[in-house]
Amino acid sequence: MRKCSGPVIRAALRNRKTDIDAPQFTIIIVHNLFWRGLIVEGRTSKYIGISEFWVANGFLRSQPKIWITAFIIIVLFAGLLFTQEGMAQPAQGLQPGDRPFRLPFADPPGPSTWLLVQVYGNTTGAFRQRTSTYNAGQGLHFGVDLSAACGYPVVAIGDGVVSKVDALQHGSAPHNLMIDHPNGYASFYGHLLETPALTPGQEVKAGDVVAKVGDPDETCTSRPHLHLEIRNAGQYNHAYNPLALIDADWDTLALNGAGGLSFARDLDAPRKWQGLYDQPEVDFWGLRLNDYDDPWPPEWGR
Ligand SMILES: [Zn+2]
Repeated sequence: MRKCSGPVIRAALRNRKTDIDAPQFTIIIVHNLFWRGLIVEGRTSKYIGISEFWVANGFLRSQPKIWITAFIIIVLFAGLLFTQEGMAQPAQGLQPGDRPFRLPFADPPGPSTWLLVQVYGNTTGAFRQRTSTYNAGQGLHFGVDLSAACGYPVVAIGDGVVSKVDALQHGSAPHNLMIDHPNGYASFYGHLLETPALTPGQEVKAGDVVAKVGDPDETCTSRPHLHLEIRNAGQYNHAYNPLALIDADWDTLALNGAGGLSFARDLDAPRKWQGLYDQPEVDFWGLRLNDYDDPWPPEWGR
């Protein structure tokens, strides 16, 4: 049997080769999926490229008696991938329909309302500032950033009780708001325009306007956005991935494509923490999680 190396695979693809055997067929498909990045985060994409179709088609025509064998090999391989530990999943085993909170804005996203600009976790932006801005959060971005104009109304993501107003020991100046929820989580709204007109102990309902978007640089022309965290109510020393707890189509929101939606990569473990939902929880003031010897993108100044 011919050795199934990269050049052989490319030649087979280029010539639309049809006389390939089952092992070659399997290797070509798997090679293509990896090469195109269609197997990511330990799972396969729904998308199969056109070249896979015609390689499969040629194979089926040339090897009609054993196509079922090849099909079974592919199915088993895909099944193996889907059961891998580290498969992208919402945190704490929650499925999309289980997420208890709503988005912090009344309007749908868009260029005249709000957009997702930085997700939670090991973002490249947080990585670059892991020893400064994000040192308290183990080097990770411990909330989600949603851009909107200054003054844009922020709504409560769930029913709850106001627990803190302008508690700047928790960060996110110049103004912030903490709401405790009966499910044990607290929502924290940061970089607000002004002191929220609420007092601790006051009850709020999901969807009530509770604050206004501001700008951490206090110019309203620099980077106005809401920094939203979800912490443990009462202690407030642990942060959870809001994407796993807020009911929204985060995958579509992330198509916005801003720089804050890419993750820093440890080239010694390149698949770790690369998905929207597989980011680690944060213990505030715990050890930094992302001091990589060999990061990608490379560290500035190296
Ligand atoms: Zn933020």
